[in-house]
Amino acid sequence: MTDRPRPLVAGNWKMNGLIASLSEVSAIRDAVAAGGAGRAEVAICPPATLIAAAAGLCKDTKIAIGGQDCHAARNGAHTGDISADMLKDAGATYVIVGHSERRTDHAETNEQVRAKAEAVIASGLKAILCVGESKNEREAGKTLAVVGDQIEQSWPKGASAKSLVVAYEPIWAIGTGLTPTPDDVAEVHAFIRHQVQRLLGADGAGVRLLYGGSVKPSNASELMGVRDVDGALVGGASLTAKDFMGIAAAYKG
Ligand code: PEP
Repeated sequence: MTDRPRPLVAGNWKMNGLIASLSEVSAIRDAVAAGGAGRAEVAICPPATLIAAAAGLCKDTKIAIGGQDCHAARNGAHTGDISADMLKDAGATYVIVGHSERRTDHAETNEQVRAKAEAVIASGLKAILCVGESKNEREAGKTLAVVGDQIEQSWPKGASAKSLVVAYEPIWAIGTGLTPTPDDVAEVHAFIRHQVQRLLGADGAGVRLLYGGSVKPSNASELMGVRDVDGALVGGASLTAKDFMGIAAAYKG
């Protein structure tokens, strides 16, 4: 195997977290400083209301802070929306785009996701682009076709291994406690690697491919050990430092 990119363990807090929850950020920061994530990079994507405070707590540490979504425009008449520049200004270095909950709850299309990813990259931030199939699509044998279309159509211009991370998140595994088998994850990640290398050439080998969907401390080592899995995007289990660091520990030693 060629040199693997540095793994990334990213927590997506979704619409969870108040100021009191910043104690979890501090606990994660201290655990990472003590070597709890081994060679992995750690990122926390709290709700937008906590980004500036979380970034302050993690200043001059190795923890990255991220947003969970952004608008495709830099600024303007878009009430309630947040631009990538604003997230950067608040201290974020990553932005999740195309999460299945955004695609479902806000009917986001691949084209919109691509525009958001391009805005993230244009702001000098890194996009975590989410793709994944529904239960029906998997049962109909359409997983690779769906994931392939999502990658093709939401692929941002100007992407590189430094500016883009791809997260494979089967929708049926998110928040359900269900996970694909390691063989199923390996099949999809090999397919994504192939697609990414087709789009980026040699640089595609350095794009980190995360697995997301019911990752927890008890299954992290097995899932992170799958070929072409370069880390995890974690929802529910990222809300406490204990569980999140239990997952990051897969990269210790
Ligand atoms: C997610 O929403 O990105 C996710 C992976 O959620 P969970 O870990 O809770 O399945």
